Amino acid sequence: MGGGLAGCEAAWQLASRGIEVVLREQKPIARTPAQVTDHLCELVCSNSFRGAAITNAVGLLKEEMRRMGSLIMACADETAVPAGGALAVDRERFSAAVTSRLDAHPLISRESVVVDQIPNGFAIIATGPLTADALAQALVERVGSEHMAYYDAISPVVSADSIQWDKVFKASRYDKGDDDAYVNCPMNREQYAAFVEAVVGSKKVPARSFEEIRYFEGCLPIEVMAERGVDTLRYGPMKPVGLTDPKTGRWPYACVQLRLEDVAGTAYNIVGFQTRMTWPEQARVLAMIPGLETAEYLRFGSVHRNTFVHAPKLLTPWLELKSAPGVYLAGQITGVEGYLESAASGLMAGLFLSQRIHDESFDPPPATTALGALLRHLWTDRKDFQPSNVNWSMVPPLEGLTRKVAKRDKYELYAARALEDLAPWTQRQRVEATSV
Ligand SMILES: Cc1cc2nc3c(=O)[nH]c(=O)nc-3n(C[C@H](O)[C@H](O)[C@H](O)COP(=O)(O)OP(=O)(O)OC[C@H]3O[C@@H](n4cnc5c(N)ncnc54)[C@H](O)[C@@H]3O)c2cc1C
Repeated sequence: MGGGLAGCEAAWQLASRGIEVVLREQKPIARTPAQVTDHLCELVCSNSFRGAAITNAVGLLKEEMRRMGSLIMACADETAVPAGGALAVDRERFSAAVTSRLDAHPLISRESVVVDQIPNGFAIIATGPLTADALAQALVERVGSEHMAYYDAISPVVSADSIQWDKVFKASRYDKGDDDAYVNCPMNREQYAAFVEAVVGSKKVPARSFEEIRYFEGCLPIEVMAERGVDTLRYGPMKPVGLTDPKTGRWPYACVQLRLEDVAGTAYNIVGFQTRMTWPEQARVLAMIPGLETAEYLRFGSVHRNTFVHAPKLLTPWLELKSAPGVYLAGQITGVEGYLESAASGLMAGLFLSQRIHDESFDPPPATTALGALLRHLWTDRKDFQPSNVNWSMVPPLEGLTRKVAKRDKYELYAARALEDLAPWTQRQRVEATSV
């Protein structure tokens, strides 16, 4: 179900393994509010698949997908346009390339239908962030409304080694809980006032017409709080109570909290800092937070209209809905974020369903790879589970890396390790690398 990034890739992966596929897409009968064409695999916004170099986690993901015979990567490479260090495509030619390859495959047929029920039997639901209402409702009835969201609220993530540790302190509120879990960035009155002013005055990503967002009070973007009054943030995510700064022996005027993002302690998210500020503005404004002046962002914050499920609770490790055996989920609806990540999850759902149909055992990609990292994001249960792009905080740190290495060198080592670990796995999957 769904002829977007994930659905097309999943169909291709299944058919490549000898399985007959019917691809059900609502176009041209209906479109999502973001779509403007009747083509498959429409890129609804940017034409960029982001960084191309493998020292970038999404660049590594691309390379792994090529090695897994990805349809999306074959068509993206074939229709690439000059974009500096990124991979961007001619969107019309990209959609046409995907469509013609699917249509030429003897095992794939297409049907135009607005799916409104959870199917019986083997299926992959890949209907995306703007899944049509009736199907979304059918999913809610199956999984429970508390496990499905219509907006994401993503806080930025910074790398631990980019924090200025002499300006921050570790402590949990009223010393309750694990001290190592929280890092506190204290602010005085002047710093706080300047910060609030900068948030209010910053450039935001404009809401699309269908995004007349009714925010949940529990996860308001910081700029919405800042606009409500100068003290609102100080009573919200920047609340200082119970956080004694060891340098002063007192609670600061305001305090930004960072929470551990991964077990290895390589990354922290900025608690409650979901935002619609543009990425350059996030880099500029958040640098006013003491300790984050030179922060490296592994992920920026965002708030979008986005239908997704609480994957760690609802899905098996192989992306099958626990409440509907045989029905797999793929793409943005699982809680991955971005064109490439959605296609990658389609690739994996196609692979896992084919393993099931062929009665083979489940064989996930290694944790050190970008594919494996993305999958593990969907496995890791947390109360505030939110969609995510692939990023380096998701891979296990390199063992034995004792000295401080330059960021680029470190990521080169991550990428080399990933591709080395990927090789035996791809061999077991009996795939041929994508050729353009
Ligand atoms: C407004 C907007 C802008 C975005 N901009 C970007 C960006 O610039 N870069 C980026 O990387 N990501 C962006 N995203 C995220 C982007 O949607 C995903 O990265 C990607 O398209 C998700 O892939 P998918 O296959 O899960 O869903 P989609 O690509 O959306 O595919 C889902 C398909 O399912 C079909 N469908 C929906 N409901 C039904 C139904 N009931 N029956 C049959 N078919 C159905 C839809 O018509 C669609 O073709 C944006 C999302 C939105 C909403």
